[in-house]
Amino acid sequence: MTLSSGREFLSIPGPTTVPDDVLNAMHRASVDIYAGSLIELTASLFRDLPRVFRTEGDCYVYAANGHGAWEAALTNVLSRGDKILVCESGRFAVGWGETAGVVGVAAEVLPCDWRRAVDPAALEARLREDTAGEIKAVMVVQIDTASGVHNDIAAIRRAMDGAGHNALLMVDVIASLGCVPFEMDAWGVDVAVAGSQKGLMMVPGLSFNAAGPKAKRANETAGLRTRYWDWQFRDGDEHYQKYCGTAPEHMMFGLRKSLDLLFEEGLESAQTRHRLLAEATRRAVDVWSRARGLDFNISEPAERADSVTTIVMADGHNPQPLRDYCQQTCGVVLGTGLGALTGRAFRIAHMGHVNAPMILGTLSVVEMGLAATGIPHEKGGVQAAIDYLAGAAPA
Ligand SMILES: *Cc1c(COP(=O)(O)O)cnc(C)c1O
Repeated sequence: MTLSSGREFLSIPGPTTVPDDVLNAMHRASVDIYAGSLIELTASLFRDLPRVFRTEGDCYVYAANGHGAWEAALTNVLSRGDKILVCESGRFAVGWGETAGVVGVAAEVLPCDWRRAVDPAALEARLREDTAGEIKAVMVVQIDTASGVHNDIAAIRRAMDGAGHNALLMVDVIASLGCVPFEMDAWGVDVAVAGSQKGLMMVPGLSFNAAGPKAKRANETAGLRTRYWDWQFRDGDEHYQKYCGTAPEHMMFGLRKSLDLLFEEGLESAQTRHRLLAEATRRAVDVWSRARGLDFNISEPAERADSVTTIVMADGHNPQPLRDYCQQTCGVVLGTGLGALTGRAFRIAHMGHVNAPMILGTLSVVEMGLAATGIPHEKGGVQAAIDYLAGAAPA
């Protein structure tokens, strides 16, 4: 018995659903990399990417996934033996810190509860202790895709300023850019790291650094620079230097289209759409959780992310049969639990190219699956989501 024929809903937090227009934009012949339209395409991308990051700083495009852009950010501003402070809030900032360890940077972790956002006061206290200024950079994610937390980047900047500390602020916006407000310059972020395959609605394979003036100054003396990631080489005049080799032109065609879609909708409208669809998801989870078979991972409602919701199971309940049912019987792929939540959680993405029927369809299938697999839940989650959206998006 299966109901899964038809379009599969990929409700995982990356890669996300790629719009047909973006896929189609990539389905074309290769073009010359030394002259002609590709040069103009590069100019348009480098004009528009900073608009998404909300920065006057410089952007860099790598033919790499997010892990590549992590390494790019680290090696462009740090030297072997430097120390950084990683603000834990789930899996991803810690993973970034591990990458730093491999290239010879000492990463100290500011530990945090997996169910809460980074505490700016704890960060400020730690930075105040560093009277010698040993910490060269503070690393944090805006949205942690594993825990489902949204960190307050502006508050983290204020904590650093409050401590009078000179470290760079480096922010991973891989699971948040294009989904929630991010104000690189206004919030005093020195380096931002993003990827193509989440809120930016593109295939995996491109990733980005955005660098402000303080980061560019640190880059001048950074001992870890290597040719491929190096901002200085990419700042050169030749077109091929922008990509340190053959331009990833098909992904550039796709990215051009996805940025066009984002600007057509408007950045703020896209953020509003994410907020409403995320809230609809939370309304459903809130109802289901009343029977205590499952709960939000993030305990504080204001700290829940607008691009992914992480749901933990009560002890004794395994999320895997639910995920299997949703995928095999209904054609909805839910995210799995990561890191400390492996085997204990599932995730619903509401990130990128998603609309009301996709979210309502996904929520309906989850509610079906909760019933079919015998997970205690209160019925009516989907109704609560519908009621919320009907009120939030009036005729
Ligand atoms: C997906 C993700 C990454 C890793 O990106 P890859 O493209 O898989 O290397 C890093 N940070 C966050 C917050 C993510 O969501």
